[in-house]
Amino acid sequence: MQQLIDRIRRDGVVKPGNVLKVDSFLNHQMDIELINEIGKEFKRRFSDVDITKIVTIEASGIGIACIAAQYFHVPVVFAKKAKSVNIDGEVLTTQIESYTHKRVYDVIIAKKFISPKDRVLIIDDFLANGCALLGLIELVACAGASIEGIGIVIEKGFQSGGEVIREMGMRLESLAIVEGMDDKTGEVFFRNEV
Ligand code: 5GP
Repeated sequence: MQQLIDRIRRDGVVKPGNVLKVDSFLNHQMDIELINEIGKEFKRRFSDVDITKIVTIEASGIGIACIAAQYFHVPVVFAKKAKSVNIDGEVLTTQIESYTHKRVYDVIIAKKFISPKDRVLIIDDFLANGCALLGLIELVACAGASIEGIGIVIEKGFQSGGEVIREMGMRLESLAIVEGMDDKTGEVFFRNEV
């Protein structure tokens, strides 16, 4: 998605440790017009699938998922990062290691919000090593729902997540795939820049 790539080039900040900061337009301050175009693009790419629910993870995924959901006309369910897990049978739970915060979270989704009849689109802002996504996939699979697709705003193609997820046979659409970054010059290189 060229508009997104142009914006990453203009306003993205490359930090040491392969971290791309996009907090001026995507995951802190949010450019709603851009995110609206992102929502439309997800709808265009998944227009052939009948989605009943969008699943994401707090916090950064929520705003993006909500805007996309207006084009799919479905509810959004977000996995919550829980400090302590109440294992009372009413929640699905897994653990996710945060790439940016370097800590492990318990994440939960209430069982009642995803049923085996659901056809789910998972949406998130970043895909790096795939830990967040694998956790979400596990939660949706535990609910017995089918995963029809995964929409990612920025995939870091030089990290393993994308390959792992595609090898699982998942339909993964990333709107911008970063192939490399240089924290000295601030340059960002993209795959298939069209
Ligand atoms: P993963 O679990 O795939 O390693 O990382 C995915 C999560 O880590 C995303 O939900 C995102 O919040 C965060 N993340 C990973 N890499 C980056 C990055 O380069 N920049 C930012 N801002 N977040 C990242």
